Amino acid sequence: MKLSEVKYSETVIITKVLGHGSFRKRISEMGFIKGKEVKVIKNAPFNGAFEFKIINYNISLRKSEADLIEVVPISEFVKSENENYQGVIDRDIDLVDQSERTKIINIALVGNPNSGKTTLFNYISGSKEKVGNYSGVTVDIKKATFTTKGYTINFFDLPGTYSLTAYSKEEIFVREFIYEQTPDIVINVLDATNLERNLFLTTQLIDMDVRIVAALNMFDELEKQKLFFDKDELAKLLGIPFVPTISSKGIGLENLIDKVIDVFEGKDKISRHVHINYGKDLEDAIKNVRQKIKENKPITDKISSRFLALKLLEKDGQVSTLLSHYPNFDEIQKSTQREINKIELLEKEDSETIITNAKYSFITGALKETFRNPHQSEKTRSEKIDDVLTHPIFGFPIFTTILFLMFYVTFKVGAYPMDWIDMGVVALGDFVAKLMTDGMLKDLLVNGIISGAGSVLVFLPNILILFLFISLLEGTGYMARAAFIMDKIMHRFGLHGRSFIPMIMGFGCNVPAILATRSMRNKGDRILTMLIIPFMSCSARLPVYILIISAFFDKYQPLYLMGIYAVGIFFAFLTAQILNKTFFRNKETPFVMELPTYRLPTLRNVLYHMWDKTKHYLKKIGTIILVGVIIVWALEYFPRETKNTAVLQKEIQLAEQNTSLAAVDKENTIAQLNIQIESDRLTNSYLGRFGKFIEPVMRPLGFDWKMSIALLAGLPAKEIVISTMGVLYQTVDDETTVNLQQKLKNEKFKTGKNTGQFVFTTPTALAFLIFILIYFPCIGVVVAIKNESESWKWAIFAVFYTTSLAWVAAFFVYNIGNLLV
Ligand code: GDP
Ligand code: MG
Repeated sequence: MKLSEVKYSETVIITKVLGHGSFRKRISEMGFIKGKEVKVIKNAPFNGAFEFKIINYNISLRKSEADLIEVVPISEFVKSENENYQGVIDRDIDLVDQSERTKIINIALVGNPNSGKTTLFNYISGSKEKVGNYSGVTVDIKKATFTTKGYTINFFDLPGTYSLTAYSKEEIFVREFIYEQTPDIVINVLDATNLERNLFLTTQLIDMDVRIVAALNMFDELEKQKLFFDKDELAKLLGIPFVPTISSKGIGLENLIDKVIDVFEGKDKISRHVHINYGKDLEDAIKNVRQKIKENKPITDKISSRFLALKLLEKDGQVSTLLSHYPNFDEIQKSTQREINKIELLEKEDSETIITNAKYSFITGALKETFRNPHQSEKTRSEKIDDVLTHPIFGFPIFTTILFLMFYVTFKVGAYPMDWIDMGVVALGDFVAKLMTDGMLKDLLVNGIISGAGSVLVFLPNILILFLFISLLEGTGYMARAAFIMDKIMHRFGLHGRSFIPMIMGFGCNVPAILATRSMRNKGDRILTMLIIPFMSCSARLPVYILIISAFFDKYQPLYLMGIYAVGIFFAFLTAQILNKTFFRNKETPFVMELPTYRLPTLRNVLYHMWDKTKHYLKKIGTIILVGVIIVWALEYFPRETKNTAVLQKEIQLAEQNTSLAAVDKENTIAQLNIQIESDRLTNSYLGRFGKFIEPVMRPLGFDWKMSIALLAGLPAKEIVISTMGVLYQTVDDETTVNLQQKLKNEKFKTGKNTGQFVFTTPTALAFLIFILIYFPCIGVVVAIKNESESWKWAIFAVFYTTSLAWVAAFFVYNIGNLLV
């Protein structure tokens, strides 16, 4: 009986929890597990809430939830227990084992027409006990019942379908059967010689979150045709156990039933629920629609909300009808329509087609390494392109070349608009400087805000170009291949293949990349990936690289840029290796890397994604960078006076009154004294004092106090390194008339043993680049690591690990560089 039918104050034992996987998971987390005793405390009529006592907790369930929990009265057990019970047996387990009702497994056969379902059904039922017609609403199906291994098994032969859309009554029937009858196991009968088409239905079963066992039928044909098929690997990828069968001869059917029992008992190692990744746009749409659906709890007990959301996005009328009597149906519809419009506009394609394509991307990816048909005569265009681009030998060099091209254009083409913006910023600074009278406000505006924020804004074109490339690569489908090529290399370093996508995202911004690790199930894998993501050079670091490279390296600039990214990746892999050998020793779960067909992306799609990524950069300039700039400016601006100021000012006065000096000499002397005042003031400012304080630590790397401060200021966001340099390297003599690159080149040591020498040499510049790459990611990343790993431990580890590694690496680069120069 159902838990909802139990009377007030009765005690029952749970025998089975029905419904889809995530419902079962939620319910079992509340303690509703097979064999547990439940007492009904409140049994409200009229579909109100039920209340139960389980393991000494009181829990409320809705009627719809209680409907899906099967129970037996405890009295049934007590009887049998008294008969000839002797000795001590774990009562819970014993009770359950004695119940006949726990021993029923309902199985539905689902598969394409002609995959061999009926043959399989007849073979099993013919040799077994009962067969009867089971009348459905629209279609008649067959049901067979037999007992084996202590289980009573109900077998349902459902009509063959290619899909679970609402186009035919068979398709609707199969769907409704699954969510109304909630079979314990779905046997997905596959024609093994025709996997690509057969797996389409499988993807929909996966979406429905049901427990699946796949019968690889026609296995004789597969062997006859000598197709290559790594079925174990595919099973792992899909989280579905595969059993080879030849149903026309009855071969493999015993194994099939054994596997069903294993899965039913939760003993199978392969069986797990995977999420098909539909790509960022669709996943966002699914998430939004799903959120609205979830407000209607009752229906999501029976049907996975993800499946419902997908169906709504496919404009499935039947699911709309299903949801139509829910209070927020209007909202659901509105949100669905909004999402459909958005994705259709981006892809210039019907939403159903987009989802179908995504499913085939998943299937192609799953079969890429596991299934090959040498007899296949016609290759699709995508397959032909893939033969070249994912070629075992040429794939990697092609990938590297494309990356080089990307950095080349980012650097070289980006330089032109960069100059224009640069000139604009300088002109604006001059203009404002002329307009205003000297004073604190002018200094804040010109030397603080315009110069600081402007020095970051200058790199907007480079970032736009980089994002344009990434969006293009994603849109054409090449990025998926890059992940594919990298996957094997990743595995060699003990990294999870799934880590690659967050790592690539890390090139944009590390924070969303860390959030993207949520797609990984294993916590150890997740934390490991989070810890190496900071080595992926985010777009905030790009401006610093470009600034330093364009200032200090005349030749091969794009190669330096690519090199620094490569060094980051190198450290990521190195870190992964080290951590894998020490903290984490994970068993990885393989996953499908989707391979969409190649195509020309729509312009709108590319621009949208480029803008989507860029807007964060602009927002950052307006917020955190602006605040950073003002703080750095204030620390630099105060205090205004030093103990020498009065003396120096007196000297200026004296020089002005000195009539014996020629006009030119007088001007020079005064200018010289002004520089002295300014540099004296800067050294004495709060920022200067702090810089001097930490300088000894940074000096072994060749960094002076200004660089040290810039690095410190970059803790909230690395762009602030540049804006800080923009503020710090203002010099009295050249105001705003030259760009920052030139100012850096002109900078000389003013004190210490190197006085008069240039601060930036080639080894210093290189060490600085390395340090920027590796040290403290940024506050956002640290907080993200803390939140996602749910402990400060890993966040603090990341801070110390990256910063000390940065110091050591920069130290080596600087000193080895000096030996060579
Ligand atoms: P259904 O549409 O899924 O019910 O498929 P059927 O059970 O009607 O089978 C379709 C055809 O495939 C029949 O001619 C079967 O004899 C044949 N068939 C079924 N299973 C196998 C198998 O394992 N190997 C081979 N070679 N043929 C099979
Ligand atoms: Mg049939």
